[in-house]
Amino acid sequence: MNSRLPVAVIGAGIVGAMVALALLRDGHQVTLIEPGEPGGEQAASFGNGAWLSPASVVPMSTPGLWKKLPGYLTDADGPLVIRWPALPGLLPWLLRFLWAGHSVARVEATARALSALLRNSPQRHQAQAATAGVADLVVQHGLLYLYPDRAAFQAEALSWRLRRDNGVQWTELEGPALRELLPDVDPRYALGIRVAAGAHCLDPCAYVAALVRQAVAEGARVVRARATGFVFEGARLAAVRTDQGEVACGRAVIAAGIASAALARQVGDRIPLASERGYHVVLAKAPVRLSLPVMPSDGKMAMTPTRGGLRVAGQVELASVSAAPDWRRAELLAGFARRMFPALDAGATAGVDAEAASPTSRWLGHRPSTPDGLPVIGPSPAHPDVLHAFGHGHVGLAAAPATAELVADLLAGRSPAIDPQPYRPGRF
Ligand SMILES: Cc1cc2nc3c(=O)[nH]c(=O)nc-3n(C[C@H](O)[C@H](O)[C@H](O)COP(=O)(O)OP(=O)(O)OC[C@H]3O[C@@H](n4cnc5c(N)ncnc54)[C@H](O)[C@@H]3O)c2cc1C
Repeated sequence: MNSRLPVAVIGAGIVGAMVALALLRDGHQVTLIEPGEPGGEQAASFGNGAWLSPASVVPMSTPGLWKKLPGYLTDADGPLVIRWPALPGLLPWLLRFLWAGHSVARVEATARALSALLRNSPQRHQAQAATAGVADLVVQHGLLYLYPDRAAFQAEALSWRLRRDNGVQWTELEGPALRELLPDVDPRYALGIRVAAGAHCLDPCAYVAALVRQAVAEGARVVRARATGFVFEGARLAAVRTDQGEVACGRAVIAAGIASAALARQVGDRIPLASERGYHVVLAKAPVRLSLPVMPSDGKMAMTPTRGGLRVAGQVELASVSAAPDWRRAELLAGFARRMFPALDAGATAGVDAEAASPTSRWLGHRPSTPDGLPVIGPSPAHPDVLHAFGHGHVGLAAAPATAELVADLLAGRSPAIDPQPYRPGRF
């Protein structure tokens, strides 16, 4: 067993913050290295859909996806777009991505591995939020998937079978029961599927900041710097190199979101990581009664009631990290929200404040995504003193607590409570 090691955690998004806390619980000396505000706008953890969902076990790549590829390349307004200039660079990742969903058996295995990280996510977050003094930021009102009709629900039969196989339970809502729960939603939605075990975070940015404050209160040091590489003495790690000097340590955890692959390459690991870029808009004054987050089947986006207002987040744009934002995609999200909640459509409804229908903020973030839909968690095959904790794609907020527990187990040399095999860095 390894006790009281100096450990550098690179990145203070939700994953780095949770890892830091788990390592502190084990008695390690933790230094968090982060150039920005913890949970700030530069981090995917800032602007996500805020879902803490045990039902998010369905990977993006499923059998038959390849047939939709031409549409993704030509429909600039679709829920998934691939920007042409990025295509040559993305091709190897895309081929692996398609292969990961080529058979139902593969997708079942991915769902099982995701479920191991997501199963108790709401409870883990609630416990962590309470310890950090922000219990009010995590609420469990369930999550709702909305369908225009039963045929649309049945068209997603594989997804719901994967959820059921992994212990997710749900109830169906129709007619008055659905209207009572969602009085302001467009009547074209006739069926709601409610996952009562789901939860959401009311302010992911404030949440990450609170976790980092707690880590500091428990003895962690935060170094405002960008990690650039590693210093080894023989085979052993001696320090993390940063743009502000070296941070001495015996172990390092790479939790730098989309920037992690470049750091992993510094220790000889080539991990395929692409940005599934996603946008959000927030409608601060939306005159919409919404007690729980909703995902419309025809929109593939999360509509989440947050502290800042109605947050509409989601969809996927495959493009390089450095490509300029295409704010039309944020507009698409806002437009969808207006169609979903007629009360937002200022043009059509007399007396509605035009401001209520306009986004008060918009944001672009980078989901750190591996082609097989699973994160990379565990020691580097080349240099085991460096551990990886990144690549959580669409589920990083929800999966962060379990990831942190796994990292702590592996770093301590304990037999891990979660089987680390599916996430091993050497699998590519
Ligand atoms: C539109 C959208 C909607 C989403 N919805 C959900 C959802 O509803 N539920 C869910 O669970 N997940 C969701 N996600 C995914 C989730 O947000 C991410 O998986 C998660 O935030 C990743 O967390 P992270 O800590 O790995 O990375 P990040 O949050 O990106 O944090 C990485 C940190 O590392 C720092 N960093 C970068 N380079 C360096 C360096 N060289 N040295 C030191 N630090 C560095 C960055 O500044 C940053 O603060 C969504 C994502 C998007 C974009």
